[in-house]
Amino acid sequence: MFRLDAVRVSHFLPSLFLLLAGLAAAYVRDLSVFFTSLFNVLPTLVLLLGGAYCAVYRRQRELFLMVTVYIAYYLLDTQTDFYRDNGHVRADAAVIFHLVCLLLPALFALYGAWQERTHLLQDLVARFAVLFAVASVAVALEQSYPDTLLTWLAEIRWPSLHGQWMSLIQMAYPLFLAVFILLVVQYLREPRPLHAAQVIGLIGVFWMLPQTFILPFTLNIMCSQVMLMIAAAVAHEAYQMAFRDELTGLPGRRALNERMQRLGRNYVIAMTDVDHFKKFNDTHGHDVGDQVLRLVASRLSKVTGGGRAYRYGGEEFALVFAGKTAEECVPHVQAVREMIANYAMQLRDPNSRPQDDSAGRQRRGGSGAGTVSVTISIGVAERQADHRNPEAVLKSADQALYSAKEAGRNCVMVHGQQSQRGAVRMA
Ligand code: GH3
Ligand code: MG
Ligand code: MG
Repeated sequence: MFRLDAVRVSHFLPSLFLLLAGLAAAYVRDLSVFFTSLFNVLPTLVLLLGGAYCAVYRRQRELFLMVTVYIAYYLLDTQTDFYRDNGHVRADAAVIFHLVCLLLPALFALYGAWQERTHLLQDLVARFAVLFAVASVAVALEQSYPDTLLTWLAEIRWPSLHGQWMSLIQMAYPLFLAVFILLVVQYLREPRPLHAAQVIGLIGVFWMLPQTFILPFTLNIMCSQVMLMIAAAVAHEAYQMAFRDELTGLPGRRALNERMQRLGRNYVIAMTDVDHFKKFNDTHGHDVGDQVLRLVASRLSKVTGGGRAYRYGGEEFALVFAGKTAEECVPHVQAVREMIANYAMQLRDPNSRPQDDSAGRQRRGGSGAGTVSVTISIGVAERQADHRNPEAVLKSADQALYSAKEAGRNCVMVHGQQSQRGAVRMA
């Protein structure tokens, strides 16, 4: 259920950075006029920019998260402005504040967990309808029964659980906790930057609310930061979509092209190709083929010696070693080839067990049913005087790979050198 292997600290870093920057900014006293003016327009600016960004990427979920935060900001900002100008809170301050303490986390959870449907317009209308309904009911209750509503909101329902430190209404705490758990579970089930941003964003909102009337620009700063977290997560995911290969999680061809422009004077490129993969697909099916590609990618990503793995395309992968010579890299490349050849991969679907063991892969004798192994061939090339640009080095690596295939597969060939076969080949 949980995909712990896909959890990444990098999913949280931009949001954590924004959270810490927001906390630091909120505690700065005596802000200059420049910053006070900036913080006054910041939330609106962030909503407009972030909203436009979400619209371009057709990300309604994130758009509505931002709008929810912005509405809360707007309602509370009107109150803090009144408080600053008059020295006392407005008559409806308490009821509005308590309502925001409940509705903000509730709507944040709803829009955060509400997966996008394919039909954009219906999705938009449904989200808008929910927002409109919630707002209408809240306004109607607040206008018609302000005192009853306030009493109901502020009532301490569980006196034994009430702590002196609680500065929000009691009901807000279990609600925040439930939303936090929901968002953490959502992240663990589907680890991605947006889900991480929602968790950190909720923490930001939870910290902000009690400070609303205490620290002058907390509201403006933290609401801006939370909206920025969401916009940054959209950008992060767009980057991943462009540069990461979805199947294997490795950086893709575009990332490799970019990396190749930034390689220094010495580097090595190793091109890797799975042996007889077409037959493998034919025998076991495309799904098992995909599983195998994931496993091969995960082994390749663990290559030692400073190498970095990329999915070049199909069942071909590239390993890039910056600042290395071919001689230095070959042992690491050999090691990863052996590791893959010796690894008995457990097939998830027992119905797709191998029937045909020929050609570079076999069912491991005695290691149990439903296991297969694959081999890879590798061609290695380093930057040399006669081929200086990375494209030429990559081409040489490809030629060496071709030689490795010619030499019988499951081996490493270095461009311009003899066979570097290491482990015993599998029959
Ligand atoms: P060789 O040992 O000479 O490399 O033989 P091969 O069969 O691996 O060579 P070839 O490059 O002709 O076959 C590549 C096959 O890889 C074709 C296609 O069926 C398979 N393939 C490419 N991309 C994917 C993918 O994303 N998933 C799966 N399951 N198979 C893929
Ligand atoms: Mg191929
Ligand atoms: Mg192949």
